[in-house]
Amino acid sequence: MMDAASRSRLEKFMEGLKRRNSGEMEFHQAVYEAAQYIIPYVIHARPEYGDAQILERLTEPDRAVVFRVTWESDDGSLRANRGYRVQYNNAIGPYKGGLRFHRDVTLSIFKFLGFEQTLKNSLTGLPMGGAKGGSDFNPKGKSDHEVMRFCHALMTELARYIGPYTDIPAGDIGVGAREIAYLFGQYKRITNQFVGTLTGKSPAFGGSLIREEATGYGCVYMAERVVDHAQGGLEGRRCVLSGAGNVALHTAEKLLELRAKVMTLSDSTGFIHDTKGLDPEKLAGVKEHKLERRGGLTDYAEKFGGRFYKGKRPWRLACDIVFPCATQNEIEAEDAAALVKNGCKLVIEGANMPCTLDAIEALRKGGVTVVPSKAANAGGVAVSGLELTQNTMRLYWSREEVDARLKDIMKDIHERCVQYGEDKGGVNYIKGANIAGFVKVADAMLAYGAV
Ligand code: NDP
Repeated sequence: MMDAASRSRLEKFMEGLKRRNSGEMEFHQAVYEAAQYIIPYVIHARPEYGDAQILERLTEPDRAVVFRVTWESDDGSLRANRGYRVQYNNAIGPYKGGLRFHRDVTLSIFKFLGFEQTLKNSLTGLPMGGAKGGSDFNPKGKSDHEVMRFCHALMTELARYIGPYTDIPAGDIGVGAREIAYLFGQYKRITNQFVGTLTGKSPAFGGSLIREEATGYGCVYMAERVVDHAQGGLEGRRCVLSGAGNVALHTAEKLLELRAKVMTLSDSTGFIHDTKGLDPEKLAGVKEHKLERRGGLTDYAEKFGGRFYKGKRPWRLACDIVFPCATQNEIEAEDAAALVKNGCKLVIEGANMPCTLDAIEALRKGGVTVVPSKAANAGGVAVSGLELTQNTMRLYWSREEVDARLKDIMKDIHERCVQYGEDKGGVNYIKGANIAGFVKVADAMLAYGAV
């Protein structure tokens, strides 16, 4: 329970934030999730943070750039999209965070993602600040040439704001290996420099092994830390996953390796429920179909068995662990109630902010442990950090070496959450992740004085 003084301070702080960022719901939500712990447990205990207005300053991005991207479609007509880069906070290292291409993005979404990224990057223990960006360009239905022309046009503008010691973008929804290659190719052409300004590159030209798999693998390494090893680790656990992109498919891959049962995958058209569970062969089929050919999940059931539920999400099934790996706010309060009722014990947030605030409350009240995205999915940016290190040192680490470092980083993140997340004899990972991520950034901001 929060004391009255902290409650009133939190309410006043949120009122100001909402007034200054009117209508930016996702940004309000992300800040509230962190502030509800930071204000009572940190600001209240250390007045110097309050005196220096650290939380107020941390909830104002360093800068946000919005720009036009003009490109030519295959039929010769000109198209205009909007590009964004929110350079959120560089107190502990250069700006770092992915680019998202999705029809529905807004400045609010990039600000929430930038805020999350700042605390997440801090949690990894690596020297990286936070950023996020992308465009309302919808890659669906576009030809390969159109995607290339769009990426080149976006980078022509973005290049003036980024650099290996300034801001290092990577992928996110709609931006995978193909898009990163087009973006990097154009960056290299414009600047005449071969430097690690983008991560998620192919290992053929400076990318790190395991980067593609890192977010999903990291989620599973985190789940391993949380579940009780005495009870057999993840083997045989019934896992429900959403998404069928980079994060979901590599989460599934690692879960299968550890003999967990992967029951579902989803995309924007619906979800598949495979009662027998996925196996490596089925997963390879989905990977080829989704990641390489960018198709839908609709024909999975026909090919491999199971059932496809059009337009639905997989949260009504009995399960042990849930990995939401598609997008923000995909688990709402009613879904959370169904998960509690159906025996779910653990939610590992693979996507960024996949649970609404009401859903988190219902899950926690129902005894479900929730590991928030800034801790659970930090493996991706952590290996991006390792990619940068390899680029700077001009060497490559083996698959085993990168994987071992990723495991260590996830173990350290888990320890930081435990250290700061003590709660009635248990661990509140949301509290732990937010406080641990905040303290490091706040101390750096404090040390710089009024900047
Ligand atoms: P991808 O584009 O590879 O895959 C996204 C998946 O989610 C697709 O299956 C897509 O369906 C589905 N999806 C996207 N939007 C919606 C929606 N509004 N409703 C239903 N389904 C949707 O993205 P990633 O796997 O890279 O990213 C997934 C999540 O993980 C995001 O929240 C991202 O921010 C987060 N994340 C990603 C990291 C990374 O390294 N890639 C790192 C850390 C976090 P469809 O195929 O039909 O479009």
